[in-house]
Amino acid sequence: MSTSINPYTGEALCHFTAITDETLYQKVADSGQAFKAWRLQKTEERAVLLRRVGEKLRSGKHHYARTITVEMGKPITQALAEVEKCAWVCDYYAANAARFLEDRTESTEAARSYVRFEPLGPVLAIMPWNYPFWQVIRFAAPSLSAGNTCLLKHAPNVWQCAGELQQLFEESGYPPGVFQTLYIGEPQVEGVLADPRVRALTLTGSTRAGAAVAALCGKYLKKTVLELGGSNAMIVFPDADLDKAVETCIESRFQNTGQSCIATKRLLLHQSISAEFTDKLLKQVRALKAGDPMDPETYIGVMAREDLAGQLEAQMKNSLDMGAVLACGGKREGTFFEPTILLGVTESMPVFREETFGPLLAVSTFEDEGAALRLAGKSRFGLGVSLFTRDPARVQRMIPLLEEGAVFVNSMVKSDPRLPFGGVKDSGYGRELSVEGIREFVNVKTVYIP
Ligand code: NDP
Repeated sequence: MSTSINPYTGEALCHFTAITDETLYQKVADSGQAFKAWRLQKTEERAVLLRRVGEKLRSGKHHYARTITVEMGKPITQALAEVEKCAWVCDYYAANAARFLEDRTESTEAARSYVRFEPLGPVLAIMPWNYPFWQVIRFAAPSLSAGNTCLLKHAPNVWQCAGELQQLFEESGYPPGVFQTLYIGEPQVEGVLADPRVRALTLTGSTRAGAAVAALCGKYLKKTVLELGGSNAMIVFPDADLDKAVETCIESRFQNTGQSCIATKRLLLHQSISAEFTDKLLKQVRALKAGDPMDPETYIGVMAREDLAGQLEAQMKNSLDMGAVLACGGKREGTFFEPTILLGVTESMPVFREETFGPLLAVSTFEDEGAALRLAGKSRFGLGVSLFTRDPARVQRMIPLLEEGAVFVNSMVKSDPRLPFGGVKDSGYGRELSVEGIREFVNVKTVYIP
């Protein structure tokens, strides 16, 4: 049994009961059955349906955004942006999937040799609550386009969103069984992965969850893509456009109330500009409007669950005990966490070592480029990094030295359907989006005809 709770009001929105093992088995069977026909459809036919999903997302965006906001506390304007981005990724794969999946001819001594990209089968998607539509659609759009079927196990605090997603695909004309939501908890996941019809898994969430589920996938030999946490650094050099860097840092850290894997969690400032930068930063962070997530003026909503807010508070308190300086914020009440900045953060503090999944920014300083590189890399995560500098030579020097899934220069790390997305180290492996994303869940079939 799971209850969906509005994290701003505390109101219970819906009660859900997990499905029985028998129903689950039937749904997996339906997914396998649906795959038999779906895999044979033309990519262009599948694109027609995906384009319809995009249209429905746009026409229903206020409805979907409201569901997101009441269920996980994201400010409504940001929920609307999430839904619009989902429509974009649908349009993108509707337009490009056929090209990405075209046969590739290779010349060998055979009369004909080529590579085909065929779907794998049912794919289990274990998804988190922070972008309850985007995380799902960014996986489903390419995976369905390639001819796979999808089984979604969403985070239990966003099961209303999960239900709406299934309805969205059904109403867009997807055949029964092609996209299904499974209302299940952790204990039922192994049964799904053990089923020989299920061919692969994608998981977005914590490193702990990723490692646990990947171990099961090892046991049952299922292909995996893991998009786990991050502790991205933003590195600001003295030659940077400081106003732009401040503005970008705020958006990157505080949008979605800080609950994003690719957010800037660690701000690394060159010591010569740190006082000026933090002055500007503090002024603007203090002015961020917090409050009712349904109010279009609100920029800082509430955190999705009280236990997560409590975790962040503990990370903050432990870091303060170790000598960090509270420059603003620091108060927590229930799911509300004030936008918070800690200065003087060192490598050993939890806010530096661990992922901070909420509106808290850890600020450290560095002396030179070498120290900046060392600090940035002093994390078990490797999702992305932002560099702020006007020196192109510095940029070229640093890019290969950063062990990250992405380097963004003078801008924030963000996902974009046209560019691959994913990490290294404890941030996971595999890629989503772009051509790499659609190729993750395909059988790369070699054909050789002498
Ligand atoms: P989790 O990683 O625990 O949850 C994400 C998803 O994984 C949920 O659907 C969850 O379902 C599922 N899951 C977790 N453990 C298992 C398991 N052993 N077997 C099968 N499914 C599993 O995240 P939390 O919500 O607990 O958040 C904790 C921390 O994770 C955050 O503070 C943040 O650091 C990180 N996180 C990172 C995200 C990202 O975008 N990379 C997104 C969300 C969280 P269930 O709840 O039913 O276990």
